[in-house]
Amino acid sequence: MKKTDELHEALKYYFGFDQFKGDQEAIIRNLMKGRDTFVLMPTGGGKSLCYQLPALLMEGTAIIVSPLIALMKNQVDAIKHASEAGNVADFLNSSLTPEAMEKVKEHVLNGHIKMLYVAPESLAKRENIDFLKQVKVSFLAVDEAHCISEWGHDFRPEYRRIRPSINDIAPGTPVIALTATATDKVKNDIKKNLRIVSAREYKSSFNRPNLYYEVRPKTKDVDKDVIRFIKQNPGKSGIVYCMSRKGVEDLAKLLQANDINAAAYHAGMDNDVRTATQDDFLMERIDVIVATIAFGMGIDKPDVRYVIHYDIPKSLEGYYQETGRAGRDGGEGRCIAFFAEKDVIRLQSFSEGKSALEQNIARQLLAEMKSYSESNVCRRKLLMHYFGEEYDEDNCGACDNCLHPVDYVDAADELKTLLDVIEETKENHKVAHLIDILCGRPSESVVKSKHHRLDLFGCGRKREPAFWTSLIDQAMLDGYLWKELDNYGVMRLTEKGKQFYAQPGEYKIKENRAFEDVVDEPVATAALDETLYHMLVDLRKSMSRRLKVPPYVIFQDPSLHAMTFDYPQTLDELKQIPGVGSGKALRYGKEFVELIKKYCEENDIVRPEDFRMKSVANRSRAKITIITSIDKQIPLEDIAQGLGLKMDDLLSELESIVYSGTKLDIDYYIEQNIDDDIVDEVYDYFMHSETDHMAEALEALDEDITEDEIRLVRIKFTSEMGN
Ligand SMILES: [Zn+2]
Repeated sequence: MKKTDELHEALKYYFGFDQFKGDQEAIIRNLMKGRDTFVLMPTGGGKSLCYQLPALLMEGTAIIVSPLIALMKNQVDAIKHASEAGNVADFLNSSLTPEAMEKVKEHVLNGHIKMLYVAPESLAKRENIDFLKQVKVSFLAVDEAHCISEWGHDFRPEYRRIRPSINDIAPGTPVIALTATATDKVKNDIKKNLRIVSAREYKSSFNRPNLYYEVRPKTKDVDKDVIRFIKQNPGKSGIVYCMSRKGVEDLAKLLQANDINAAAYHAGMDNDVRTATQDDFLMERIDVIVATIAFGMGIDKPDVRYVIHYDIPKSLEGYYQETGRAGRDGGEGRCIAFFAEKDVIRLQSFSEGKSALEQNIARQLLAEMKSYSESNVCRRKLLMHYFGEEYDEDNCGACDNCLHPVDYVDAADELKTLLDVIEETKENHKVAHLIDILCGRPSESVVKSKHHRLDLFGCGRKREPAFWTSLIDQAMLDGYLWKELDNYGVMRLTEKGKQFYAQPGEYKIKENRAFEDVVDEPVATAALDETLYHMLVDLRKSMSRRLKVPPYVIFQDPSLHAMTFDYPQTLDELKQIPGVGSGKALRYGKEFVELIKKYCEENDIVRPEDFRMKSVANRSRAKITIITSIDKQIPLEDIAQGLGLKMDDLLSELESIVYSGTKLDIDYYIEQNIDDDIVDEVYDYFMHSETDHMAEALEALDEDITEDEIRLVRIKFTSEMGN
C-alpha cells in the first residue's frame, strides 16, 4: 500500500498527474523489479512516462536509445527540469562537439543524470562503450523499438547492434522495449534481437475511437481536393504527408499560393529551418505542415485535427503511426488518404537494387497497404486485425466504409473453389499464383510448376481477378487463411479454413473497390456554357473595334473557353485563367469579369468550386533564364547556345512566355537584326489580321520575309498589345 503511494506521489511530483493511464503502473512496477519489459502502446498512450518515471526513481542512470537526433533534444528539454535538482537528462550523439560531449560525460559520472539519451550509432562506438562501463546503469530503454525489425516501417540497421553493446557495458541490465506499432512479426523480431524473449508484455488496444479513416481515389484533381478539405477546416492544425521531398516542396508552395498558412518539412532542409518550422507548428503560427515521414516522430501536438496522405504510405504500420498523430487529445482527428495504383508502382520501384529479401518485404508491405485501400470492409476492423486484435462491432460509425456500406455478396462457392486450389497445390503458393490458376492465366510461375495442366486451371474464370483478390483478403480477415510470411507469403489454410474445406457452409464478402487509373485528360476545348461563350466572343469583338486591336490579342479562344468553366468574377480570378497574365487582365479584363458576374447573377449560376485554385507559376528553369537574359539584352543566339537550344526552339519558348501573359522586350534584338521596313510591315499585318496563325501570315506577307522574322515580330506584337 505504502509503495503505491510512493509511486503516485512521484507521478504527481514529477509529472503533475494524479493517476496512471492504462498499463503504466504495472509496466513501471515490472521494470523496477528488474525484469525485461515489452510495451506496445499506441501514440498518445503515455509511452515515455513508462521509462522516465522509473529512471528518476531508480539508482543509477538509464540509457535510452532513441532513433532521431533531431528529436533527442526535444525529449531532453521536455524532461530535464522534471526534478528540482536540475538537469536530470542529457543526450549523447554525433551532433555534439567534443567539448560538449566531455561535459555530458562529466555530468553522468558525478551522478546527476538519470536519463541519458543515445543514438543507436553512438551506443555502438567503442569509446562510448568504454565510458558507459564506468557508469551505474539502472536499465536500458529502447524507444521506437520497431526500428529493430526489417518488417517494421522504419528499419534502422544500427538498432540491431544494441544487444552486443549492452552486453559489453552492463550485462544483465533489465531492458524495456517500447513501440507504438508492431505486428506479431515485428514484435517477435524485436524480442529475438534484443534477447528478451521472455519479457513480460503489455499491450494496449490499438483502437483509436476518435479517429475517422477514409481513403479517396487520387485523381488529377487531387490538389483541388486537398485544398478544398483544408479550406473547409479553417484554423485547424493538420499534417499532409508526401512521399518525396520534391512533392513536399511543390505542394507546400501550392497551398501557400492558395492563402493557406502552410510550411514544408523534410530531412533535406537545414536543421535550423526544420526546428523553426516545428516550433511554428507547435505554437500555431502555421496551420498546416507538408512533410515527408521525417516529420512527426515524437512530436507531441495534441490537437492535430487531420492527417492527409497525399501519397499512399509504404506500409500499414507507417499509415497507422502517421494517422495516429491526429487527435491525440481524444478530440476530432480525420485521416484522409489518397490512393492511386501508380503510386504503388512508384513505391515499388524505390526498392529496386536492394537485396532480394528487402524487395520481397517491401512488396508484401505494399500489397497490404493496397488491399487496405481497396477494401470495402470497416477500416478500423482491418487496422486492428493487422495488429492482431479483433474488432467485432458491425459498424464503427467513423470510417468511410461504415458510413457508406456496400452490400455483402454470396461467396460460399467461390471460397470452396479457392480452398480447392490452395489444397490441390499443396498450400505452397502466393496470392498472384493462385489467382493465375483460378483465372486460367498461364503465367511463368504457373507453367513452371505445370499447374496449367491441373483440372482446376481456369475454374474461377467467370470471376474477375479483382474479385479473387477481394475474396482472399477477406478470407484472411475472417480467419480461413493465413499468409506465411517466413516463407515468402505463401497462403495456408487455418483450422477454420480446413473445416470449411471439409464441410462448406455460408460465406459472404464485400467486394473491393475499383480505383480507376488516373488518366491525364486533355484540356477541354469545348465551351461549357455556350451562351456565355458567345457573349464573351461578342464582347471581345466590340472591344477589338473600339481599341483597334485584333480580337485574338485581347484573349485567345482557349482562354474564353476556360472562362466558361470557371466563371472568374474578379481580376485576381481572371489571372488564373490559362493565357491571361497580370498585364492582360488589367488591360482588358474589367469588362469581361463584369459581364461574367452579371451573367452568373441573372442565371443563378453556382460556380463549380467553392474556391479558385491558383497554380504556382510553373516556370521551368529554362524559362526563367530566358526572361532574365532578355532583361539583360543578351543576343538571342547566345541565350539559345547557353541553354543548348536551337533558335527555333528558343522562339517557341518565347512564344509560350508571351502567350501566357508575360511581357518580353526583344526590341534590342529586332533593331539589330531585322530591317525597320520589315518590322513595320509585319507589325501592321498582325494589327489588321483576324488571326495570328503562321501559315496565313506567310501567305499574306512578302515572300522575302522569313518565318523567323515573322515570329520575332509576332512576339513583339503579342507582348506589346496583349500583355
Ligand atoms: Zn468502420
